[in-house]
Parts: sequence; structure tokens; C-alpha cells
Amino acid sequence: MNAKYIFVTGGVVSSLGKGIISASIGKLLQARGYKVTIQKFDPYINIDPGTLNPYEHGECYVTADGMETDLDLGHYERFTGIHTTRHNSITTGRIYKTVIDRERHGDYLGKTIQVVPHITDEIKRRMLREDGTDEQLDFIITEVGGTIGDIESAPFMEAIRQLRWQLGRDAVCVHLTYVPYLKAADELKTKPTQHSVKELQGMGIQPDILVLRTERHLDDSMRLKVASFCNVDLECVVQSEDMPSIYEVPVSMQRQGLDSAILRKIGIPVGETPAMKPWHDFLEKQRCATREVHIGLVGKYDLQDAYKSIRESLNLAGIYNDVKTKLHFVNSEEVTADNVASKLDGMAGVIICPGFGQRGIEGKIIAAEYTRTHDIPTFGICLGMQMMVIEFARNVLGYQDANSSEMDGNTPHNVIDMMEEQKSITQMGGTMRLGAYECQLVEGSRAYEAYGKETRISERHRHRYEFNNTYKEEYEAAGMKCVGVNPVADLVEIVEIPALRWYIGAQFHPEYSSTVLHPHPLFMGFIKSCIDGTAEA
Ligand code: GLN
Repeated sequence: MNAKYIFVTGGVVSSLGKGIISASIGKLLQARGYKVTIQKFDPYINIDPGTLNPYEHGECYVTADGMETDLDLGHYERFTGIHTTRHNSITTGRIYKTVIDRERHGDYLGKTIQVVPHITDEIKRRMLREDGTDEQLDFIITEVGGTIGDIESAPFMEAIRQLRWQLGRDAVCVHLTYVPYLKAADELKTKPTQHSVKELQGMGIQPDILVLRTERHLDDSMRLKVASFCNVDLECVVQSEDMPSIYEVPVSMQRQGLDSAILRKIGIPVGETPAMKPWHDFLEKQRCATREVHIGLVGKYDLQDAYKSIRESLNLAGIYNDVKTKLHFVNSEEVTADNVASKLDGMAGVIICPGFGQRGIEGKIIAAEYTRTHDIPTFGICLGMQMMVIEFARNVLGYQDANSSEMDGNTPHNVIDMMEEQKSITQMGGTMRLGAYECQLVEGSRAYEAYGKETRISERHRHRYEFNNTYKEEYEAAGMKCVGVNPVADLVEIVEIPALRWYIGAQFHPEYSSTVLHPHPLFMGFIKSCIDGTAEA
């Protein structure tokens, strides 16, 4: 069959969970045996989110092929297990850059370059994935960031309008809106949804399916009202009520027939409803996992979305270990030698978070020292691993001034340093080791055991600085082992202290490859060692 296209837009307010709905649609179609991909189009002008502060759009998610992307791609991968690539994350900046580069190259043969048709054509080309890079796909789901009515998303809407016309029944538009509950009136209000749909219609797009986000259940009369005011079939008005977990959403959408409504609109026989047994088994495990395990997240961004994939990876690994992980953010800027014991009091394990720059690093180093000397399971990720390495140099190897050359370019003991070949690159975004690299594990190490005795793994990276191999022997002699090494570049990717219960640092980001059906082995091992240390309730 020809690829079919599903466009997901949002109205009324932002943060409605378009990413979760897009990922759920992907999951449901995949469960029916279709080959699916999900892509995100963001209206901002940055070329990619790599240079954005996490306070702007949350974490930067990295694909295996090394693209820095929006955190929604993390939802897509966790829900569906598909590997997204650089083709799955597009920004206005990238679209314009392609068009402007082409113009400079003389490709337009003297034409005036305009938003319509040149920008919209480039958007359409990418929405259709005309690069020929994919194997045969059945469904291409395109989520557009922002909210209907935003000036900056207008070219994307125009591209969707044209594609709808061009593709006919091969395209479906799903629009997500919000139905607020007014407490004083004790009523749910559909007017904002009606306005949002009108706005969309004003741009020439008639939505086929409406997903209404709501905190309270909408009865059939409400749905009927929306259906009749918005020119949508009743069966195509589904509601997305607040759920105890985002992983319940696909099941709720399936129960309401969102996937079958999409198939009917496209004209594909609906067939049996898939059982999705592994997913239901997971949800059952989630419901049963009530025993709490407290994990401290030592980082500098006091914002849920900043460490999104780490949080989800911990939750998933907890569920598969039959516990509920309670995550406690510990602001590393506030951690001192005097208060570290009370800040980490009650934590069964500690994550030292990734990050860039000086702010908050001394607190991470203090936390790493405390957990090392008190044998509290600790997992350092990227900058977190680097801080474990610096702490060990300062307090075990005796190099008081040890540091990363990111923080102190003049330190005589640069135990974390930039690789020679990186040094000459100055352009932002170009200097990092990004994407998946292979890693050779040392047999018998804890990491090797966690990975189920695999010796070759592949993990995603996003960093500039590396463990300085000059010090490798000293570390190993003093008890911190380099148990994962890049087989080509000989870079240290994992360190661990075997004498402790779990004290592991990974230079890569395992959180990017944790999925609902396949929790990541290192998070699994970490949570297991946290549980082993806490008495049964
Ligand atoms: N700032 C560190 C580096 O560039 C770590 C980056 C990270 O934690 N993602 O190497």
C-alpha cells in the first residue's frame, strides 16, 4: 500500500500532550502490523534544539544517527520502539536554511524566493519524506509543534492544507484541543474547541478527528455537541482524560476507537482489535508496583522536562523491578559538604545528572563523594560520570586540583579533557560527539553483567569532553575500573568501582534507548541494586 499520512495539530493551549497522542497513534497502528514512523515539525528558528537551554523546551533528545532533537522523539521511541533519525525532527530554521542554501547556490534560476511556494514546498517535501531514505512505510505521522493561530506555524498549516488536497483520502488530520472545566459554573466548556476548529477551517483545513483533552469525563451529549459544531463524525470525537500514567493513553485511545476511526477515514479495512498483550502486561506490572524506592536526581535544572528520558527510564526500570520509583530532585547548586547527608537522606540510590558548564558541578562532586564513601548506589550519566571521575582524582588519587578542561582550562590535572581532533572546531553544534558509538565491555564487570553478558554494545552520546587516558592506569590501580571502551578511538565510556554495590558512570546517555517494552539494562541493574539495599516494607 502507498504510505498514508496523519497530521497532528494542537489548539487552545500548549502542553496538551500532542506528543503522547502521536506516539499512541503510532503504537496502535504498529500493533495492527503497520510500519510506522513519527516526525516532529517545530516552528522555531533554531536549526535544532541542541543549542537551547533546557528551560526553553526541556531535554534535548539525541537520535542514534546523532541529531539533537525535541523531547517528543523520546516519547515516539519509548512508545513504539522505532529508531528515529535526523529526518524525524525538523524546525523552521532547517527549512529556511535548506531553501536559502539552495538560493545561494543558484538553484532557483533567478526566481523570487517566497514563503509560498518555496518554504511550503520544502515543508511538504519533508512531510512526505521524499528523500527516499526510508524502507517502505505504511503510515507517516507528522506532529506540528505550537498551537493553532501562532503566526510562526502558518507555513506548516498551509503545507498541510495543500497536502490534504493532493493526497485525498491518504491523509487524515487529527486535532487536539482542550475542554476546560469551570469550577464556579460546574461545567465543561467546548467553546474554545469550537474556536480552535474554526481557526483551522479558516486556514482551509477541516479536521477529521478531534481529541479533546479534559480533566473530567465528557458525556455523549458533549461529544455530540462538538461533533455537530465542528463538522466531525461522532465516532471521531474522542477524549483524552487525565490518566495516572501516560502509558495508559494508547489503551484508552484504542478503547474509544481512535485507530479504527483513522483507518475508516483512510478507507482501510479495520479488522480485529489487536490484543497488545505485552503492553497490557506492562500496565498490569505498573499497577502492582506500589512499593516505593526513593531516588535522588542531583542536577541543576529544577524542571520535570529537563531530565525527561532519565525520569522515564527510572520509572520503567522500577516497574520491571516491581517497585514505584519516587524521584527527588536535589539541586546541585545547593549541595554543600555540610548538608549533603541531609539532602540525600532516605535515598536508596542517586543519579548524577548530565549537563554543561560550571554551574552546580561542585555539588555534584560532593554528592559523588558522599555516595562513594557511604556505598549508596550511584549512576553518573555523561557530566555525572565526569564528576565521579573528578571526585575520585581529588579524593582518592590525591589531585586536589583535578578538573575537566571544560571547567578549568588551566588545571594541571585535566582528568576530563577534550580530544585533540575536537579542539579546532569552534561552531556550536559541530564540536560534539553525537549519536551511537560502539563500546566494548570488560567481561566480568558489573556493566557486562547488567547487559546480560554482552561484550559489544552501542549507545548514544552527546558531549565534548572525554576521560583522559593518561590517568587510566592510576584509576584502575586505585579501584576505579574502565570497563567500557570505544573499540575504535579507545575512549573510556564506562567506569565503575567493583568494590561498591553500584557505582557506575557512563559517558553515553543510556536514557535515550530505554523503551516501555525494553527497559535499559543499566537502569534495570541500578534500580535492582537500590532495592537490594532497602528492607522489604
Ligand atoms: N559537558 C560535558 C561534555 O561536554 C557533558 C555533557 C553532557 O552531560 N551531556 O563533555
